[in-house]
Amino acid sequence: MLSVIEAEEIILNLVRGSNSHRDTEIVDLETANGRVLATAVTGKLDIPHWNNSAMDGYAVRYQDLEDCSPNKPVTLEIVTEIAAGDRPTVEIKSGQAARIFTGAMLPQGADTIVIQENTTREADLVTILQAPQPEEFVRHQGAFYQAGTPLLASGIKIGAAEIAVLATAQCTQLSVYRRPRVAILSTGDELVTPEQTLQPGQIVDSNQYALASFVANNGGIPLKLGIVSDCPEELKSAIAKAIETADLVLSTGGVSVGDYDYVDRILAELGGTLHIRSVAVKPGKPLTVATFDNNCLYFGIPGNPVSALVSCWRFVQPALKQLSGQKNYRSRFVGAVTRHELKAAGKRETYLWGQLHLVDGKYKFALAGGSHSSGNLVNLAQTNGLAIVPVGHKLIKSGEPVTVMLIS
Ligand code: AMP
Ligand code: MG
Repeated sequence: MLSVIEAEEIILNLVRGSNSHRDTEIVDLETANGRVLATAVTGKLDIPHWNNSAMDGYAVRYQDLEDCSPNKPVTLEIVTEIAAGDRPTVEIKSGQAARIFTGAMLPQGADTIVIQENTTREADLVTILQAPQPEEFVRHQGAFYQAGTPLLASGIKIGAAEIAVLATAQCTQLSVYRRPRVAILSTGDELVTPEQTLQPGQIVDSNQYALASFVANNGGIPLKLGIVSDCPEELKSAIAKAIETADLVLSTGGVSVGDYDYVDRILAELGGTLHIRSVAVKPGKPLTVATFDNNCLYFGIPGNPVSALVSCWRFVQPALKQLSGQKNYRSRFVGAVTRHELKAAGKRETYLWGQLHLVDGKYKFALAGGSHSSGNLVNLAQTNGLAIVPVGHKLIKSGEPVTVMLIS
């Protein structure tokens, strides 16, 4: 059986091989949130756009105040007042100062700001008791960014901070990658939608909703294809349609060794190349990964809701992020100390869900309460990490170090 790392590398290589078909589109800044930059952005404006004051106070000439001290205070004449948004018109000469406020443009002649707390004022005269540092509290034009140099690289996912940077630089039209279309289908005769009344033996198709949320959170467009029964003909036509319409297909169920598990056979019949059939991981051992001539990447994921999500987090997430053009697509891990015993059978890399907390600068992992059966999804809610028990280990004792994969 493939190890987790081997499976991950196979998957990422498959995505790399299919990257050539990735298209781009132009979007407005208004709709750019969550999109991935396809082209590096270069700004046409310096940031700050001009020299301005970082504080409320007085704009002065440093030379006038070089020798200033409580014993040798200096008094300057206030010749103008500049608020944020004003355009200064008066040049500051030796012996003069401008009253100035945070964000206001520096006037000609001034090179330093004295904060108002270090001054006393009487009418049009300001007395300064302490020498400032040269150029103190001046935000210089271009100090944060120079026009024409790289501002944001391609492959960056656009969030609030990037939106702020792009808005400031007046970059309102952005080239982004087309979002991958991800078909989701749930296989199983026992499945009904959350709206339907349950008959004996039936269960709700939670995977459809969980995976749609997962896909949207990771830069894809979820295409919910619904429930398909365990009937080979129906399954085959549903899978064929999914492969035709999507860049990535996620089906859950039907990849195990049960009598009604037809997915692998159907993928082969449809001309797919099967790269992975199972992985030494728990939960989520029966994982199928296949590719098709049209570049579609297919994940056949086990039906157990926990197995399905763990498979998505561990294997689909890096692939989906990579497919959506993100440079940082790898899973993220942190070192933690476990508060609870972590048990495993030792044969497969085992993922146990729980909460990661930062306590006195160190990550602590607390196992989610309740059953850790892969059929129990209830205690998966509000977890943010998966603790990993490596192959060959059966126990990580409370207080011992553990690697935790971040899932939020
Ligand atoms: P399977 O992988 O098809 O053998 O399914 C394994 C287990 O997961 C069975 O108990 C199924 O009832 C359950 N299951 C399968 N698909 C879903 C789904 N879409 N939502 C919730 N549970 C599911
Ligand atoms: Mg099934």
